[in-house]
Amino acid sequence: MNAPAATELPVVVIGAGPAGLAAAAHLIDRGIEPLVLEAGPTAGAAVREWAHVRLFSTWGEVIDPAAEKLLAPTGWTRPDPAAYPAGRDWADLYLQPLAAVLGDRVRTGARVTGVSRTGRDRIVDADREARPFLVHIAHAGGGEERLFARAVIDASGTWATPSPAGGSGLPALGEKAAADRITYRVPDLKDPAVRARYTGRRTAVIGSGASAFTALAHLADLAKSDDGAGTKGVWILRRGISGSTFGGGEADQLPARGALGLAAKAAVDDGHADAVTGFRTEAIERAHDGRLILVGEDDRRLDPVDEVIVLTGFRPDLSFLEELRLGLDERLQAPVALAPLIDPNQHSCGTVPPHGRRELSHPEQGVYLVGMKSYGRAPTFLAMTGYEQVRSVAAAIAGDLDAADRVELTLPETGVCGGAGLFDAPDAAEGDSGGCCAPAPQLVQLGVPAAAEVAAAEEAQAGGCCGS
Ligand SMILES: Cc1cc2nc3c(=O)[nH]c(=O)nc-3n(C[C@H](O)[C@H](O)[C@H](O)COP(=O)(O)OP(=O)(O)OC[C@H]3O[C@@H](n4cnc5c(N)ncnc54)[C@H](O)[C@@H]3O)c2cc1C
Repeated sequence: MNAPAATELPVVVIGAGPAGLAAAAHLIDRGIEPLVLEAGPTAGAAVREWAHVRLFSTWGEVIDPAAEKLLAPTGWTRPDPAAYPAGRDWADLYLQPLAAVLGDRVRTGARVTGVSRTGRDRIVDADREARPFLVHIAHAGGGEERLFARAVIDASGTWATPSPAGGSGLPALGEKAAADRITYRVPDLKDPAVRARYTGRRTAVIGSGASAFTALAHLADLAKSDDGAGTKGVWILRRGISGSTFGGGEADQLPARGALGLAAKAAVDDGHADAVTGFRTEAIERAHDGRLILVGEDDRRLDPVDEVIVLTGFRPDLSFLEELRLGLDERLQAPVALAPLIDPNQHSCGTVPPHGRRELSHPEQGVYLVGMKSYGRAPTFLAMTGYEQVRSVAAAIAGDLDAADRVELTLPETGVCGGAGLFDAPDAAEGDSGGCCAPAPQLVQLGVPAAAEVAAAEEAQAGGCCGS
């Protein structure tokens, strides 16, 4: 196979989400040609699937500096940095204009199905690093294509691969057969058809992170509305409820994220949702009337529900990277050097420092997982962390290791620690608070990302104590 010289090749970026488009902007800033391959029909395809969800970050926290530099000469108007966009706004007012500036460097309807070294499968050592990357793509309209790349930045996110309801990480028995009454997304209750599905119904929400808070708050709003009588949430938590369950609240330095937890708390306090604690779903059975019965690992059987919303986190799709030599942590499926910084088993507080090419490198030189995907199963990713990642990675690809190793991001301090401890640690079980994470929330003053308390709140999604 005659592959062109690597220096003439683009850097292929997989995914035109916030991280992938920012990576392209940083590469251009460095004089390197990116080619962004996006599976969906538009840039920001994943963000558009949660268009109705309001971010807990402000505009000022979700615009990449290099992207802004590209956008500025086009007459683009920077949204109010203090305002909170919804996913739709993020896509319409930032991602789409950015993709437009990038022009034909962004190809939509192009799903990456495989990445390898040209002429070298995973086993072969000889001359490996001198070989360009080979990227296979499947076009939405049919047909396949192969491209060559000097480096590959995988910014494909984790949105398409949500975790299941099953408390052991496997789908619960019967989960697939119950698919007609299960969703893995926060429903858009402003959509009349979706609203009708949940109105006056009993809905289980499984999970304990920001998305679960959002779903509970939306169901409570529906219950309080004129047409919402009889709407009820059943909040399924894998652990007990403690002071940390609802996140940082008013102490969160991302106030909108703190407010999500408080809204979930209000849903419970006001009787719009009943919390079921210490429940790990083992099976989902069908009642005679078609409703669903959740069965716990401890054989508890809950009253039937009409609908189930599973918000237990996401997992990376590594299937198309199988021919590459990745160094991934066996728990989180995140790059090995990054994993200890984000592991919710170890960190109840926000201790994720900004990081870049060093933490994101693999035994296979020239390939990087960035953005949401870089965090593997850890639930704490923030866009601004991703922007710093791609700045560093672009600098490394350009050979500017000084810049790559320099930290140029100042993250907000975290609000609250959620309490530490491994799941099912015997001494941590069910204290006065009713939860397995006995320590009360406490303020920490670290120069760390604001992802902190969501890490704690969602620990159970990665097998930790402090989540659900
Ligand atoms: C509901 C929700 C709310 C969030 N709110 C916030 C917030 O307030 N603040 C914050 O900082 N972060 C937030 N996040 C976390 C994170 O910043 C966002 O998820 C962000 O979209 C991650 O960007 P990304 O580019 O890494 O991944 P994505 O946005 O998921 O983009 C990945 C892109 O890759 C494409 N793709 C996938 N597979 C392939 C393939 N094989 N080939 C080609 N293309 C592919 C997808 O279609 C998608 O367009 C939120 C996440 C969710 C889900």
